[in-house]
Amino acid sequence: MSGTQADAAPDIVRVALPVPLRRLFDYTCPGPPPAPGSRVRVPFARGLRVGIAVERAAGSVLPRDQLKPVAAVLDAAPLLDAELLASALWAAGYWLGAPGEALLGALPAALRNGRPLPAARVAGWCISATGRAALATGTAPRGAATALLAALAAAPLALAAVRARPAAQRAALARLRKAGLVEPLAPTGAATPAESGPPLNPAQQQVLAALRAQPPGFGVTLLEGVTGSGKTEVYLARMREVLAQGRQVLMLVPEIGLVAQTAQRLQARLGVRVDTLHSGLADGLRVDAWLRARSGAARVLLGTRSAVFTPLPHAGLIVIDEEHDASYKQQDGLRYHARDLAIRRAQRLDIPVLLGSATPSLESLHNAVRGRYAHLRLAQRANARPAPHVELIDLRRQRSEHGLSAPLLAALAETFARGEQALVFRNRRGYAPVLTCAGCGWHADCPHCARPLTWHRAARRLECHLCGRLQPVPATCPACGSPALQPQGHGTERLEDALAQRFPGIPLLRVDRETTRARAAQAALDARLPPAGPALLVGTQMLAKGHDLPRLTLVAVTGVDEGLYSIDFRAPERLAQLVVQVAGRAGRGDAPGRVLLQTRHPDHPLLLRLLSGGYPALAAELLDERRAACLPPHAHHVLLRAEAEREERLFAFLEAARAALPAAPGVEAVGPMPAPLPRRGPRWCGQLLLTAAERRALHAALAPWAQTLEALPQARSLRWSLDVDPLEMG
Ligand code: ADP
Ligand code: ZN
Ligand code: ZN
Repeated sequence: MSGTQADAAPDIVRVALPVPLRRLFDYTCPGPPPAPGSRVRVPFARGLRVGIAVERAAGSVLPRDQLKPVAAVLDAAPLLDAELLASALWAAGYWLGAPGEALLGALPAALRNGRPLPAARVAGWCISATGRAALATGTAPRGAATALLAALAAAPLALAAVRARPAAQRAALARLRKAGLVEPLAPTGAATPAESGPPLNPAQQQVLAALRAQPPGFGVTLLEGVTGSGKTEVYLARMREVLAQGRQVLMLVPEIGLVAQTAQRLQARLGVRVDTLHSGLADGLRVDAWLRARSGAARVLLGTRSAVFTPLPHAGLIVIDEEHDASYKQQDGLRYHARDLAIRRAQRLDIPVLLGSATPSLESLHNAVRGRYAHLRLAQRANARPAPHVELIDLRRQRSEHGLSAPLLAALAETFARGEQALVFRNRRGYAPVLTCAGCGWHADCPHCARPLTWHRAARRLECHLCGRLQPVPATCPACGSPALQPQGHGTERLEDALAQRFPGIPLLRVDRETTRARAAQAALDARLPPAGPALLVGTQMLAKGHDLPRLTLVAVTGVDEGLYSIDFRAPERLAQLVVQVAGRAGRGDAPGRVLLQTRHPDHPLLLRLLSGGYPALAAELLDERRAACLPPHAHHVLLRAEAEREERLFAFLEAARAALPAAPGVEAVGPMPAPLPRRGPRWCGQLLLTAAERRALHAALAPWAQTLEALPQARSLRWSLDVDPLEMG
C-alpha cells in the first residue's frame, strides 16, 4: 500500500467515531496507547469527539504527518471488553452499519460523552465486621453512635432512611463510617430467600433433562411451547443452575411493558436481585446496571432489545423469550436483530442460548429443521387446562353491527353472564380508517402519502398513520359540500363506542397506543380492571404480548382477513403468530377459553390449516412455500431504501447504487422500484432489493458496496439506509 509505514512501532490507534461512516479513523498516540475498548477524545472535523479505540496499528493508509494525535485517553481500563468489542464490530459488519454507531450504541447514553465513570452507587449502610466486634466487646463509641450501631446490627439502613434521620444521627453515622464500623451496602438488594415454584411436570422435566444432557458451551435451543406450557419455569430451572456456578444470565423480553412483571417473577423465584436495562430507564440507573453487569456484580440482567449489548464477563446463559417478536429488530440506525446478535455473542462467550416461543419464527424453525438448533417442545399447558377452542365465524352469512357479528355479540353476552372477561382484538386504532362522503364518494386522504387518513373521533382530528400528519375534520365534504361525511371501517375507538352501548354496565377498557403507554400496559390492566366479575377489553397488538389476564375466557379477533391478503410475504406468518398469541390469552385461569375469528374467507387454506394442525403444521407449510418461492429463510435479503423529496433524485440514486454493485455470482438485484407505500410525508420512497441463496456471497459483495454508496454523489441529497434481513419489505 502506498503511504503505509509498516516498519514503524504500533503507535497508531484506529478509532470508531459516532458518525454514519463505515470505517475507522487513524490517530497517532503520543502517550501510552489506549487499550482496545477504551474511550478516547480525538479531533474530528472542527471539534473534538469521543470515540472508542478499536485496535493499534503500525501503519496507516494516510501519511503519518497527516494523522492527528489523540487528544485524551479517557479510560484506564477498557469499557468494552474484548468479547463485546468484537461482537459489536461484528454487528456493524453483518448489518452493514457504521462501526462507530455500533460501538458507541453499545454504551449507555450517559457514557458516550466522555465523562468519567460514576462511582458505584451506594444503596445504604450496614454494620461491618469491625463494627460487630466493637459492639460485642463494648468498645464502640458512646452515645448516639452506639444506639445507631446497634440498630444497624439488626438491619441495614437504606440511603433514603438515612436522609430522613435527624442531623445528629447523620453525624454519628459519619463518625462510624470514618472508624470503619459501618460499610456501604452494595445495591445487590438484600438477598431474599427464593420462593419455591411448582414442581416441574413430566414434560418440563424432559426438556430440562435434554438441556442438561447437552454438551457444555455454545449451542442454541429452540423451546417451542404453547402459551402457558411453563417455558418460564424451565428458564428458571436453568438459570438457577447457572447462578449456582457463579455465572451471569441475560434474558431478553420483547416489550418494555413486560420487564417489570418478569423482573418480579425472576427476583422472587431466584432470590437474587434482577437488574433491568431498557430505554425507559433513567440514564443514571441504566449506567448503573450496565456497570454492575460489567463488574460481574449483577448476576441476572433483564431487558429489551438494546440490552443485548450488556457486558457479560461471567456469562453463563442467554434466554430470548418470544424469540419470534419483530420488536427484536432495530428499525433505524444500525438495524440489528437482538436475537441474532445474542446468538453470535453466545458463540464467542461459549455459552448456551435458549430461544422460547409458542410461535417460533420461520427462521428459527428452519435452523431447527436443519439441525443447527436443538428443538424441544412443550405441547400442553402446564396447568393441564385444555387449549382454547378456536372457531371461525363466517362474516358472509352473518349480519354484523359495527363489524361485530351476531354470534360474536352473543358469545360476549354469555361470557359476561357467567361473570367472565372477554377481549376483542382489532389491529387498527382510531375511530375509522376512512372518512368518506355519502354524496360524492370523496374521502379524506393524506395530501403527502395519498393514503386515507384515520378519523380519531374523540380527539376530533384526522391522522395519517404513515407520516403522523394531523388535520382537522372537515364539517362538510370539501368536494361537493355535502354534510353527509361517514366513517368507513372500524378502529378500536369505534368498537369501544359500539360495545359500550351494547353492553352498558360492563366495565370496558380500551388498550392501544392512544390510551395506554406500552410500558404501563400491565399496570393499567391491573389498576383499571375490576378484581372480580365481568369485564371487556378492546385493543390492538399491545394486548397480544404476554400480559396475564387470568379471568379472560373469550377472545375475538376481528380483521383477520387483512393478514390473509397482503403483498408482504411475511403477512401469513405474522397473522398466524398473532392469532395464536392472542388466543393464548384466553383461559389461563380456571375457566376454559374460547377463541372466535371473524372472516369472509372461512375456506382460506391458511385458516383451515391453523385450525386443524395448529401453529406447527401451518409453520411447516409456510416454510415449504418459502422454499418453493426462494424466499427467506431459504434465501437472504438485503434492502436498500431511500427517500427524497424529488422523485427523479430518488431513482437516480437507486440506479447509481445498482450500477455500483460489484459483479457477484448468485447475487440478484431487483429494482429500483417504488416502495410498497411510495409516499411518506413530503418524500418519495423507493428501494432496491438484493437477494442471494448464499449469505456468504451476499455479504462478500455488499460490504465494499456499502462504502461505495456513501461516496456516491447522488447520495448527498437524500436519506438512504441498508437493511440486512429486513422484516418489512417496505
Ligand atoms: P409460559 O412461559 O410457557 O407461558 P409459564 O411458565 O408462565 O408458561 O407458566 C404458565 C402458568 O402455569 C404459570 O402460572 C405457572 O406458574 C404455571 N405452571 C408452570 N409450570 C407448572 C407446573 N409444573 N405445575 C403447575 N403449574 C405450573
Ligand atoms: Zn362529497
Ligand atoms: Zn401521510
